[in-house]
Amino acid sequence: MKTLIKNGQINTKRNETTPAEIWIEEGKIKAIGTGFPEAEFDEVFDAQGQLITPGLVDVHVHLREPGFTYKETIEAGTKAAARGGFTTVCAMPNLDPVPDTAEKLKQVYDIIKRDAVVKVLQYAPITENLRSEELVDQKALINEGAFAFTNDGVGVQTAGTMYLAMKEAAKNNKALVAHTEDESLLFGGVMHAGEKAEELGLPGILSVTESSQIARDLLLAEATGVHYHVCHVSTKESVRVIRDAKKAGIHVTAEVSPHHLILIDEDIPEDFGFWKMNPPLRGIADREALIEGLLDGTIDCIATDHAPHGLEEKSQSFLQSPFGIVGSETAFQLVYTHFVETGKFTLEQVIDWMAVKPAAIFGLKAGTLMIGAPADLAVYDIAHATVIDKKDFLSKGENTPFVGWEIKGETLMTFVNGKLVWHKGE
Ligand SMILES: [Zn+2]
Repeated sequence: MKTLIKNGQINTKRNETTPAEIWIEEGKIKAIGTGFPEAEFDEVFDAQGQLITPGLVDVHVHLREPGFTYKETIEAGTKAAARGGFTTVCAMPNLDPVPDTAEKLKQVYDIIKRDAVVKVLQYAPITENLRSEELVDQKALINEGAFAFTNDGVGVQTAGTMYLAMKEAAKNNKALVAHTEDESLLFGGVMHAGEKAEELGLPGILSVTESSQIARDLLLAEATGVHYHVCHVSTKESVRVIRDAKKAGIHVTAEVSPHHLILIDEDIPEDFGFWKMNPPLRGIADREALIEGLLDGTIDCIATDHAPHGLEEKSQSFLQSPFGIVGSETAFQLVYTHFVETGKFTLEQVIDWMAVKPAAIFGLKAGTLMIGAPADLAVYDIAHATVIDKKDFLSKGENTPFVGWEIKGETLMTFVNGKLVWHKGE
């Protein structure tokens, strides 16, 4: 099978692009150039003069299946990812059942094989049933395809458990990926502890709830030599301790979500669940520190934390609503519009943080347009603005405060192994 994507542009450096056609053969990138003879190809797609990037890599999504298929399914969640330009996603294990044995992990991979339209790497938990007590059998889970280990959704509450899990992961050469939240510092909080929480009369989540557990884990990572990856960094103190740890030579990487880069607690207009996520939207100094952290390499990549929920359960007060917002279908578009269009980030940086780096830090063969690489790529319309409309969502969730926002960079086409998995308007 020979496929040609004609009439595209690829990023060369900073914000510069150059005309390019992509020649795909047997699922791999065979050549990038111009003037390829169209008649020789089995199929030809027109990129309409728009931007072609490596397929994006999202190391943090919730696909909710098995267990919570009223929120999302592997089919809907991966279609949403494709619509966002993502070709590889790493799925969190807070499922029902939690895939804490090889047998249960195989059940998840069976659904992935059947239903996923993009590449899905499934995380296994650090502990049985995400309970911070009994460690899982890492080796058995790795043999069944576990991508890495995380209890995302909750923090690991005891240092001893984390220490032993890290030692084992280091031995197995796998990353330990952490949602950090010390529950003894939670005090029933539902949004960032700041003036806005006071104004809305809601209990606050302190910054130290996150940052103190990161500080603990960084020292444990140093002692064990594990690759420690911090999920959705949200506070300025977290950025500071990760920066210091990197300087000290500790093997730590970190991600930040588009919503924490764009929104702050002051933007929350009312006590409504669509604005509730964990970690919460923080203050303006935190957002500045996150941006600075990305720019100086303290934070390695952007990940969505795509967290779909049912409409009813999210349409409640902060006190009742579950945490999380959807992000797969808007991530690149929001980051492009708010940071590239405004000159704060270059296109090259954004491609680096959303494709190149997330693949590189986990050693994935993804996130690149190199000759011979899998033909995972996406085409975006960066010329025209559109409005985020929940009617267009392929995710089962519509819980995001970004509905109605004007964006550029709508995804026109997405290819996985050279196969078209998203085509706007088709
Ligand atoms: Zn999390």
